[in-house]
Amino acid sequence: MKTYRIATIPGDGIGKEVIPAGQQALAALAAATRAFSFDFERFDWGADYYRAHGVMMPDDGLGALRGKDAILFGSAGDPGVPDHVTLWGLRLKICQGLDQYANVRPTRILPGITTPLRHCAPGDLDWVIVRENSEGEYSGVGGRVHQGYPLEVATDLSILTRVGVERIMRFAFRLAQSRPRKHLTVVTKSNAQRHAMVLWDEIARQVSQEFPDVVWDKELVDAATARMVNRPASLDTIVATNLHADILSDLAAALAGSLGIAPTGNIDPERRNPSMFEPIHGSAFDIMGKGLANPIGTFWSAVMMLEHLGEIQAAGRMMRAIETVTADPALHTRDLGGSATTAQVTDAVCALIEQAPVAAA
Ligand code: ATP
Repeated sequence: MKTYRIATIPGDGIGKEVIPAGQQALAALAAATRAFSFDFERFDWGADYYRAHGVMMPDDGLGALRGKDAILFGSAGDPGVPDHVTLWGLRLKICQGLDQYANVRPTRILPGITTPLRHCAPGDLDWVIVRENSEGEYSGVGGRVHQGYPLEVATDLSILTRVGVERIMRFAFRLAQSRPRKHLTVVTKSNAQRHAMVLWDEIARQVSQEFPDVVWDKELVDAATARMVNRPASLDTIVATNLHADILSDLAAALAGSLGIAPTGNIDPERRNPSMFEPIHGSAFDIMGKGLANPIGTFWSAVMMLEHLGEIQAAGRMMRAIETVTADPALHTRDLGGSATTAQVTDAVCALIEQAPVAAA
C-alpha cells in the first residue's frame, strides 16, 4: 500500500485550525478507502517561530520539504509582524525555492452556496485561474535607498523572462485543453505596459500554435474584472501574471460565495519538487480560536492534492462529501451566513467520506 509523505504547515491564525481539520478528513479518507495511507509531518513555522528565532522558517527548511510527496499549507500573516516579512519569509520562500511556478485556482459555485451575482446560474461560473507564480510583479527585484530623506526612492521591478512566460503559457494551454470547453483567456495589460506585457502577448500567440484545438482570446486585466461579473459564462481557463491573477482570484472567490471555500495549488508541473496546496484565505485573526473558520477551502485544497498525487477516485469521493455538506445550510459556517462550527463541518465531511459506498470511492 502506498504511503504518501505529507508536510503540513499550519502557519498562523486560522491556519492552525483548518489544517488539522484537513488532516482529519484525509485520515478518514485513507481509512475508508484502504488504498493508501498518509505519513504527516508538521512544521511549526510562521509568526510564532519568527518571534522565537527571527526567521519564519529555518534556513535548511526547504531541504526538509524536498523529500515529501506534497505540502498542505494553512496561512501566513500576523498583526504583530509586517506582512512582507510573513509572506516572503514563508510562503513565497517555499513557492520560489521549490520552483512551484504554476498557481492553480479552480472556482465554481458549490451546491447550496449563494453567489452575489444576481443572474448567474451555478454552471455559468466554472473557471480555473492559472497564476504565474515565480516572477512578474512579485519577482522580488528592487530596492530602497536614502530612507527617510526627501530623495528616498523605492522600486519593485516586474520581471518577465521568455522561459518563465513560455512555461506558464504552455501549462495554461495544456490545462485548457484538458477541460471540456478547451477555452483559454490570456489576461494582459500590454496597452499600458509596453515591454514585458507585449512579450507576454507574443509568447501567448507562439505557444497557442502548439494547441490548435484550444480557442483563446486576450483580455485587458481591467476589462477582465467586468467580464467576470457581467459575463461569467464567457470564461473558462484564465492565465495571468502574478499580481493580476492574485487580484482576479480574490474576486473569483468572492463571486463564488466566500473566501473560506476557495482552494489553490502551487504546482511544480515537472514534479522535481513537492507541490503545495492551501486555502486561498489568509490568517483571519478576527475569527481565530472561536471555531468559526470554514474548513471547506482546506478540504478542496486536499482534493487538489489527491488529484496531483494521482488518487483520482479518492479525490472524487472527498469532493462529493464536500458538496453534500455545502448543500446543507445547517452546515454553513458564519462566512456563509450559517452558525456551524469548524468541528461540525469537519465531522460531517468525515462521516460522509466514511459512508460513501466503496464502488463510488
Ligand atoms: P492575511 O493578512 O493573512 O491575508 P486577512 O485576515 O487580512 O489575512 P483573510 O484571512 O484572507 O484576510 O480574510 C478576510 C476576512 O474573511 C477574514 O477577516 C475573515 O473574517 C473572513 N474569512 C477568511 N477566511 C475565512 C474562513 N476560512 N472562514 C471564515 N471566514 C473567513
